[in-house]
Amino acid sequence: MQTDYDILIIGGGMVGASLAVALRPLPLRIGLIEAVEFESNAQPSYDDRTIALSFGSKRIFDTLGVWQRLEAGGGRSRHPATCMDAQVPRAQDAQERPSRDTDTSLCGATPIHKIHISDRGRFGFARLDRADAGVEALGWVVENRALGQALKHALAETANLTMFCPASMEGVEFGADAATVSVRRGEHIDRFSARLVVAADGGRSLVREQAGIDAHRTEYRQTALVTNVTTERPHANVAYERFTESGPLAFLPMSAGRCAVVWSLPPDQVEPLLALDDAAFIAKLQERFGLRLGRFLKVGRRAAYPLAHTQVSETVRPRLALIGNAAHTVHPVAGQGFNLGLRDVAALAEILGGAQRDGRDLGELALLQQYANWRRRDVSVISTFTNSLVRVFSNDFAPLGIARNLGLVAVDLLPPAKRALLRLSMGLAGRLPRLARGLRL
Ligand SMILES: Cc1cc2nc3c(=O)[nH]c(=O)nc-3n(C[C@H](O)[C@H](O)[C@H](O)COP(=O)(O)OP(=O)(O)OC[C@H]3O[C@@H](n4cnc5c(N)ncnc54)[C@H](O)[C@@H]3O)c2cc1C
Repeated sequence: MQTDYDILIIGGGMVGASLAVALRPLPLRIGLIEAVEFESNAQPSYDDRTIALSFGSKRIFDTLGVWQRLEAGGGRSRHPATCMDAQVPRAQDAQERPSRDTDTSLCGATPIHKIHISDRGRFGFARLDRADAGVEALGWVVENRALGQALKHALAETANLTMFCPASMEGVEFGADAATVSVRRGEHIDRFSARLVVAADGGRSLVREQAGIDAHRTEYRQTALVTNVTTERPHANVAYERFTESGPLAFLPMSAGRCAVVWSLPPDQVEPLLALDDAAFIAKLQERFGLRLGRFLKVGRRAAYPLAHTQVSETVRPRLALIGNAAHTVHPVAGQGFNLGLRDVAALAEILGGAQRDGRDLGELALLQQYANWRRRDVSVISTFTNSLVRVFSNDFAPLGIARNLGLVAVDLLPPAKRALLRLSMGLAGRLPRLARGLRL
């Protein structure tokens, strides 16, 4: 049976767009359906956040030819002196975003040379250093909008791709030979057939729901308050992960003398913090983080993200594969969610590349099962790791406090423990896809 597309990707967020770019060397007809334009204020993936990309993710983007543009700020002109212009008045939440007319100067990727992990008010700490791993950087901090721009440029250069944006997937049916997807563009609805549908439509995936795949969602009872601050002392490319009694607080080095802040808190503490004026908010944040980076001089826009862990019962069905947040969501404490999703992309692209060369049906369950089997361990290890961090470090039980601080000291002092943590956080643990080893498909 002749289909309209070989592969239809639903969701052109960070993970779905990355898959479309990864598949471009293959002689396949790819369709990408994205509901919200990349530059829109309402775009849920390319928003005000920054993302810590692991060493392994940088290598994937390097191999895909996306890194160079991303490193320079996503493809727009790079003006470090005006990067701070992005600090416009704050939004009350992620849905209510101010106009982005000052946001034309996205900044480049900032390398992380060291990571400092500590338990606020206790003795334990651990330090990870790029010298321990013998690499130029442990990871890089990029703005989500810059990633959106870099991916958009790469998609525009992809000859075998048809992109529908803005367009929403409204329904999907799975038949023996093809899947059929209903796509709304304004008043108009089209139906497209494909050998394989890839769900990259995020944590509340409609594709997953329509396929009848169970997703177990557990609220962390924490909300991430995200912003950036300009600090008196330079961050010197150090990332700080500070565990506090109310939740983890991360400071990630950014361009133009700023740090990206991800402050996870009980939900009822977030609204009052969003309502404070800048000076009062800075005082609260300073009190929580301390003076290690000197005084905080200026704070950017604030937004809030409720946090949940999602585990799905299946990641593949005949003619369907789930990737990224549609397949798993994790707490941002270790900055692993997107990195995990990008490894889904690299593994699935490799399997589809092999299948295309062998002339196999791309929607065949036995083939997709290879992807599911490959990804299971990585997703499980990262989920267990992040959930343990949240549970163990959000617990005030005194003996547990002592044990976790001894754990931090052990990581700091014991080379094998440090090496294991480095490999995990750098995205180099387990079986690596070709793209993560710097090899093309
Ligand atoms: C506060 C916070 C900080 C984070 N920090 C990090 C970090 O430092 N490092 C890291 O690796 N990860 C981080 N993450 C995780 C990361 O943001 C996610 O893993 C990533 O956004 C997942 O991308 P995705 O493309 O799978 O899903 P999404 O980003 O949710 O994108 C889904 C896309 O699908 C589109 N869509 C949805 N439904 C439809 C439909 N019916 N039709 C068409 N299109 C549709 C949406 O418009 C959207 O563009 C963080 C998360 C949070 C909340």
